[in-house]
Amino acid sequence: MQTGAATILLDLGCGALGKLQLAASIADLDAIVVSHMHADHFFDLVPLRYGLKYVRRLSERMPLWLPRGGRETLEGLRKIIGRDDNVDFFEGVFAIREYDAEEAIAIGDVRLTFCATRHYVDAFSIRADCNGASLTYSADTAPSPAVAEHARESTIFLCEASLGLGTEEGERGHMSAREAGEMARRADAGRLVLTHYPAAAEPAALVAAARENFSGPVECAVDGRELPVE
Ligand SMILES: [Zn+2]
Repeated sequence: MQTGAATILLDLGCGALGKLQLAASIADLDAIVVSHMHADHFFDLVPLRYGLKYVRRLSERMPLWLPRGGRETLEGLRKIIGRDDNVDFFEGVFAIREYDAEEAIAIGDVRLTFCATRHYVDAFSIRADCNGASLTYSADTAPSPAVAEHARESTIFLCEASLGLGTEEGERGHMSAREAGEMARRADAGRLVLTHYPAAAEPAALVAAARENFSGPVECAVDGRELPVE
């Protein structure tokens, strides 16, 4: 996400860093904010750590905001990948802080707020407000009135559709495209962008499913696509 005064990265899962570098320089990032500590949302912090240390040497450590307990998870990852000899492996390049989901964070001209989602671990939707425009990222979640409220009247609602056209039995942690449409309707979002959908899914079918519940503009997020938030 980029504004006049801030470039903020929300989540950095497996494979995301390479795609990010096709669109932006990692040195331009002002901060990274992680929604939850599942591997597909933070594992590329490892290659980014190497990139920042050896390729794009920064004069200051890059701010990295994690949910509560995230630092401990990162420490566990450091040891698993054989760097238990280097306590500064992550801390040497990242200024790591854990956010309190009850409190907003200001980064440049952006105000970030959080809302607990319905997922298998502590996870938080992230809303960014700047100059009257807003983007809310659902993170991973089952359908949630609280998250829909968090996204209320967002210019763009970037909502997960992990289940594609399917459903989930038992304990829920994700939603379908149809349910993402319902969330967007509840939120009265300006525009719905589906993300985290199955790679094999047909985007047009996902969009059609979401449109069953939401009458506003709907599209699927695509690597490298730039979306104006205004
Ligand atoms: Zn997850």
